[in-house]
Amino acid sequence: MRQSSLVVVSNRLPLDDSAARDGACEWRRSPGGLSGALHSILQQTPATWIGWAGEMDLAPRLPDLGSVRLRSVALSAEEQHGYYEGFANSTLWPLYHDAVQQPVFQREWWDTYRSVNQRFAEAAAEVAGRHAAVWVQDYHLQLVPTMLRELRPDLLIGFFMHVPFPPPELFMQLPRRVELVHGMLGADLIGFQREQAGHNLAQLARKLLGATATSDTIEVDGRTVRTGAFPVSIDVDEMRALATRPDVVRQVKQLRHDLGESKRVLLSVDRLDYTKGIEHRLTAYRELLRDGHVKVGDTVLVQVAVPSRERVESYQDLRDRIEGEVGRINGEYGRVGEPAIHYLNQPFDRSQLAALYRTADVMVVTPLRDGMNLVAKEFVAAREDGSGALVLSEFAGAAAELSQAFLVNPHDLDGLKQTLLRALEAEPADLAARMSAMRRHIAEHDILAWARAYLTALDHTGRLARQLG
Ligand code: UDP
Repeated sequence: MRQSSLVVVSNRLPLDDSAARDGACEWRRSPGGLSGALHSILQQTPATWIGWAGEMDLAPRLPDLGSVRLRSVALSAEEQHGYYEGFANSTLWPLYHDAVQQPVFQREWWDTYRSVNQRFAEAAAEVAGRHAAVWVQDYHLQLVPTMLRELRPDLLIGFFMHVPFPPPELFMQLPRRVELVHGMLGADLIGFQREQAGHNLAQLARKLLGATATSDTIEVDGRTVRTGAFPVSIDVDEMRALATRPDVVRQVKQLRHDLGESKRVLLSVDRLDYTKGIEHRLTAYRELLRDGHVKVGDTVLVQVAVPSRERVESYQDLRDRIEGEVGRINGEYGRVGEPAIHYLNQPFDRSQLAALYRTADVMVVTPLRDGMNLVAKEFVAAREDGSGALVLSEFAGAAAELSQAFLVNPHDLDGLKQTLLRALEAEPADLAARMSAMRRHIAEHDILAWARAYLTALDHTGRLARQLG
């Protein structure tokens, strides 16, 4: 078996579902940021990616994607339930997002979560060459760093948390809190989206494990674990190129025509998830219509809500609530051929998204809590024309970087309404200045810059960073 010098471990493999059927391989663009994020980087170095292949588990053999070898960890239906839908997405996900939805603690999920993490660790231990770097991704695999270190103490182990990492007051609710903190600390470097998350972990390590911690190091088991903020980003060049492609420009024209040439278009693009603040946004929009600040004749909201985690009950309930509310708003304020809200419960591909981003006058990104929010950055990258307004929640990681957006607290309904109006009514010169500053920022902080910064910090010798060019 080929031994890799860089191994990425994530819950899902970045494979298109169609790859097995027609033999042609394409990177899967799941409605989740990670696969897109790492795509650019791994093409530049011989690497193995370990993850669950979903339906592709049925394929006789997984293809290699460019220079990247894929290795799948098969999950039974029971494991998908206990590990993925259960502990990862019904316990950790809501708790890490400020418990905006009550986390569910079911004891039987824990054993499955632990044994699936063990299997991912074993797969990584098998393919990693001597002294290789293994980069473990996200809350699904929080126990892997320590499990992997037990199997292969020679490895350089990185862990990156894409979602927020909560303050001790919340984390302490977890029945398995000691194991979860200890599991992460097997890494040499733990990366977070925001600095505060590192401080949260340091406090927890002190409290739960008696560790000695500073603002960016934790001493545990006789080792030093480093922590740091590495805000993830997007492939800026790809989005820029897409946004100016002739077929996308044609789509923009068509969308403008379909939505109404003179209409002001508000756009939101989210996975259908309770962390995204969709209900708060709909309430604000309904009140703007009710108060007469917004009229269906001149303004329209396009809400893309991509189906997500549909087997989890709280997501089914959320969908029912959102669809009920959209129906009520359209029923009350829409006119024939002129709805107040265009609601789209389907995934869009990259070019369709680029066209939507370019069509919008105001992009509304108002999650109640979000690790980063790549949609906000994609919108900025797509605005080659330098116009357009971004309304952005203070509780998205992206707010720390895109400070020229119209920042808003989505829990404050009046504040949200006022901010939407401010963005709708802003002067073009003001919008252009804000957009230009945001575009400068993301041009310098794209996905490759993120990966280089992380891998350089992980590997002091600089070997990996050099491989990435
Ligand atoms: N996305 C997509 N198709 C869609 C909607 C979203 O490919 O119809 C992508 C979007 O371009 C972005 C990612 O899904 O790259 C969403 O990432 P984000 O950080 O905004 O939120 P997450 O879904 O990871 O919570």
